Amino acid sequence: MAWDFETDPEFQQELDWVEEFVRTEVEPVDQVIEHAWNTRDPLRNKLIKPLQQKVRERRLWACHLGPELGGPGYGQLKLALLNEKLGRTHSGPVVFGCQAPDSGNAEILAHYGSDYLKKTYLEPLLENEIASCFSMTEPHGGSDPTGFRTTAVLDGDTWVINGEKWFSSHALFAEFLIVMAVTEPEAPRHRSMSMFVVPADAPGVERVRDVSVWGHEERVGTHQYLRYNDVRVPAENLLGERGEGFAVAQTRLGGGRIHHAMRTVGLVGQAFELMKRRAVSRTTKGERLADKQLVQEMIADSWIQLEQFRLLVLRTAWKIDKYNDYRTVRPDIAAVKAAMPQVLLDVASRAIQIHGSLGISKELPFGKWVMESFHMGLADGATEVHKVNLAKALLRRTQPDDGLFPPYILPTLSEQAHQRYADVIAESGTHE
Ligand SMILES: Cc1cc2nc3c(=O)[nH]c(=O)nc-3n(C[C@H](O)[C@H](O)[C@H](O)COP(=O)(O)OP(=O)(O)OC[C@H]3O[C@@H](n4cnc5c(N)ncnc54)[C@H](O)[C@@H]3O)c2cc1C
Repeated sequence: MAWDFETDPEFQQELDWVEEFVRTEVEPVDQVIEHAWNTRDPLRNKLIKPLQQKVRERRLWACHLGPELGGPGYGQLKLALLNEKLGRTHSGPVVFGCQAPDSGNAEILAHYGSDYLKKTYLEPLLENEIASCFSMTEPHGGSDPTGFRTTAVLDGDTWVINGEKWFSSHALFAEFLIVMAVTEPEAPRHRSMSMFVVPADAPGVERVRDVSVWGHEERVGTHQYLRYNDVRVPAENLLGERGEGFAVAQTRLGGGRIHHAMRTVGLVGQAFELMKRRAVSRTTKGERLADKQLVQEMIADSWIQLEQFRLLVLRTAWKIDKYNDYRTVRPDIAAVKAAMPQVLLDVASRAIQIHGSLGISKELPFGKWVMESFHMGLADGATEVHKVNLAKALLRRTQPDDGLFPPYILPTLSEQAHQRYADVIAESGTHE
């Protein structure tokens, strides 16, 4: 009997250390720096690098990675418990070396990069000396990647890339971009694209606009609209085989989605904690908010949603460790991804309501978190797409029933049961 909801005492010690470290060292840094991902910001480097060193010494650096890439190889379940602690912060994932999109981009380079690409980009990326960008979505459609129009054409031993990409997060300070482009226009759509490493300073990479979003307060938008104008990269910058772009993309997306969910548990947990604190602190009409039944309902509903979501995330992480294959766990990850925005939206909204005018003000972060829930409903794929994929997977092995009425209607079941137990019923004489 292997069901267990307890954390190993040794790992709990690590989590306790992380909790304290995040509270005393990481959260204050969040108040000072603009963007923890920007490795070109000297203030950021002065504040974050010493913290990263402490994390390395504690052997908690890059916990999503196995020892071959410099991580402790803790697996996804332990990572989930760790990410819960980091999720309420901006800088936490960077301080612990497990931040998206760099984590996923590193996985792609580790799987598909040449020795040169690994030396030039993977090694400094794993050390967080540089930042990276995943440049896939296009302005004319993100949810349907089979409609992407960016092309890459081989000219001798050089690929020439042309097209537009949109919402390329962190392109502003990334050292390289991972770009998806059509290379096999005649092939079936899912075999038509390939993935490339493009140096961010390559001639022809044009920054059309720095797109900013509600909820992120940075001075310059970090989700860039990019145009690739005859950008030339060497043949070895192709990641994986020609036409395998979708397979390469899956290397990062499965992990990326569940890692976001792990952190979101922490963010929702923080909204819930603050909501409770306010409810027991604030009084109106002679009693605490916490004594009002409608407020109690908000607290109860929030806890139920949080715990349901947390258990789903933890079980999915456990399944990834068990099967060691993201494809097997894809429906679970889709479920987690689809559930995540709603849980954050609901709990952050209630946190606003319970805090009243203070809650809606910019003196508390809840408004940002409400917007964050919309980011989560889009980044790494729209919620609807994940729900559709989940439903398809759940329905795939379900067999149709013949007949006008399904065989499980109660009159049929009753008749079958009465036939089966006819002798017993006759003996007991209690039924016709
Ligand atoms: C904060 C943030 C960061 C991002 N970072 C990156 C990044 O670094 N790199 C990158 O390449 N992209 C990035 N994206 C883009 C993201 O991947 C896209 O927003 C997403 O894939 C949806 O594409 P779209 O925005 O073009 O929406 P559209 O494809 O235009 O879809 C709009 C809406 O239509 C509905 N819809 C779409 N398809 C279906 C369907 N099959 N069934 C039912 N309804 C549907 C959904 O409501 C969807 O939200 C980021 C997005 C956000 C919000």
